[in-house]
Amino acid sequence: MKIAIIGAGFTGLTAGYRLQQNGNSVTIFEKSKIPGGLAIGYKKNEWDWTLESYYHHWFTNDKHILQLAKELEYPVIIKRPKTSSYIDNTIFQLDSPLTFLQFPKLSLFARLRMLFVLGLLRIDPFWKPLESVTAAEFLPKSLGKKSYEILWEPLLVNKFGEFAKKISLAWFWARIKKRTPSLAYPVGGFLSFAGSLAKKIEKIGGKIIYNVQIEKIISTQNGISLGSAYGIFDKVIVTLPSFNFVNLCPDLPETYQKKLLSLQGLGAITVVLRLKNKLLKDNTYWLNICDTHAPFLALVEHTNFMDAKHYNNEHLVYLGNYLPQNHNFFSLSDKDLLKAFLPYLEKFNPNIKKDIIGVDVFKTPFAQPIIPINYSKNLPSFSTPIPNIYLANMQQVYPWDRGTNYAVELGEKIAAFIQ
Ligand SMILES: Cc1cc2nc3c(=O)[nH]c(=O)nc-3n(C[C@H](O)[C@H](O)[C@H](O)COP(=O)(O)OP(=O)(O)OC[C@H]3O[C@@H](n4cnc5c(N)ncnc54)[C@H](O)[C@@H]3O)c2cc1C
Repeated sequence: MKIAIIGAGFTGLTAGYRLQQNGNSVTIFEKSKIPGGLAIGYKKNEWDWTLESYYHHWFTNDKHILQLAKELEYPVIIKRPKTSSYIDNTIFQLDSPLTFLQFPKLSLFARLRMLFVLGLLRIDPFWKPLESVTAAEFLPKSLGKKSYEILWEPLLVNKFGEFAKKISLAWFWARIKKRTPSLAYPVGGFLSFAGSLAKKIEKIGGKIIYNVQIEKIISTQNGISLGSAYGIFDKVIVTLPSFNFVNLCPDLPETYQKKLLSLQGLGAITVVLRLKNKLLKDNTYWLNICDTHAPFLALVEHTNFMDAKHYNNEHLVYLGNYLPQNHNFFSLSDKDLLKAFLPYLEKFNPNIKKDIIGVDVFKTPFAQPIIPINYSKNLPSFSTPIPNIYLANMQQVYPWDRGTNYAVELGEKIAAFIQ
C-alpha cells in the first residue's frame, strides 16, 4: 500500500517505520526541517549534544520508547536526578517516601495520610472508576485540605489554569502511577534519537519530506490526495492535533468536526537560559513552583540531569509554562518575556542577569490535552468518517499523560490497525 503520514513527530515516525518494515511504501510529510515534533531539539555550535526546545526525559517504565531505542541500538542514560518543590521561597526535595515524610510544612499525621493515599493510588491498577471524579474534588478530601493546598492545588492551577477544577482524577492517578525515581535520556538528545529513527526509515526505503506543510486532504475516486504535487495515496494517517486535522480536511462531517473541536488543550512556552554557573546549587533537576503567582510553573535545570560538559560547560535552565493560545505571553517578544520572568528568577540568584550567556524562547499552540472527567467517552478513534483517512494524535493518549513513549505506542497501534 502507498501510505502517507502527516507529521514526523514520534507518532508519525514510529507508524512510518513499522508500516515500511511491513512492506508498504511510506511517505512522511513534515512541515519543519527536522524530525521530532514537540520533542524537537536544537544545537549551538559550541555544544556537542542537542537540547530539546521543551524539556524532555523518560521514566524508566516508558517501555515502548525504551524498547524502540534498544531495537535501534540507540544508547540511553539512566540517572536519578533530584526533584523538588518551591514553597514559600524555600526548596524542598520531594521525590521519595522518605523526603515526603521529612516535609516540615505538614504535621506528621498529614504526611502519613498523604503517603498512604499516594501509595494507594500507585498500587491501584484500575483507573476507570477514577475517571468520573475530578482531582480537585477527591484530593482535598483524601489527602487533607492543607496537603492539597500547599502541594497539589498550586500544581494543578499552574498547569491547567482555568481548567484546573475540571481535570479528572484518572489523569492525576496516571501521573502518580507512572513516576519513577530514576529517569532516562537518549545520548546526544531527543533530536539525535529522532534523527536516527528517521535515518532507519529512509534506509529501509521510506521517504521523509521535510519543509512541507500539508494544507488539504481530499478523498478522490482514485485515493487520497494531499495536493497535486504529491500524488495519490491508498491511506493517510494524520498525527496533528485534532483542530489542525479539522482545518486540513473540510469534507469531515460537521458533527464529527464538532466532537473533535470539543477536545481542549493548552499551548506551551519555554524560556531556555544558558548560564555561566549552576542556578540550583542543591542539584535539583526539576523544581515544581508551588506558587500560583509565579510567572512560570517549573524550573528545570537540564544540566543537573545531563552533564554540562556536553554543552560547552554551559548550565542550561528551562522556565516552563502551559498556557491557553490566547495568553498574552504568546505575543510578547523574547526580551519582554524574559523581563516578565526575571524578578522571580532573582529569588534564586539575585545576580542572575550577569550569569546569562544567551536566551532561547520556544512557543507552541498545542502541547497538553485537557483531560476532563469521563474522557474515555470522548476519545476519538483511529478511523474517521472518511474511509482511508486515519487520525492518531496526542488526544488519543489516555489514561496516561501524553509523552513520546505513548507517541511510539500510538504509532505502533495505528500501523497494526491499518495494515
Ligand atoms: C513542554 C513539554 C514537555 C514535555 N515533556 C515530555 C517529557 O519529559 N517526556 C516525554 O516523553 N514527552 C514529553 N512531552 C510530550 C511529547 O513531546 C509529545 O507527547 C510527543 O512528542 C507527541 O508526539 P506526536 O508525534 O504525537 O505529535 P507532535 O510531536 O506534535 O508531531 C506532530 C508533527 O506534525 C508536524 N506538522 C504539523 N502540522 C503539519 C502539516 N500541516 N503538515 C506537515 N507536518 C505538520 C509538526 O511539525 C510535528 O512535527 C512534552 C511536551 C511539551 C510541550
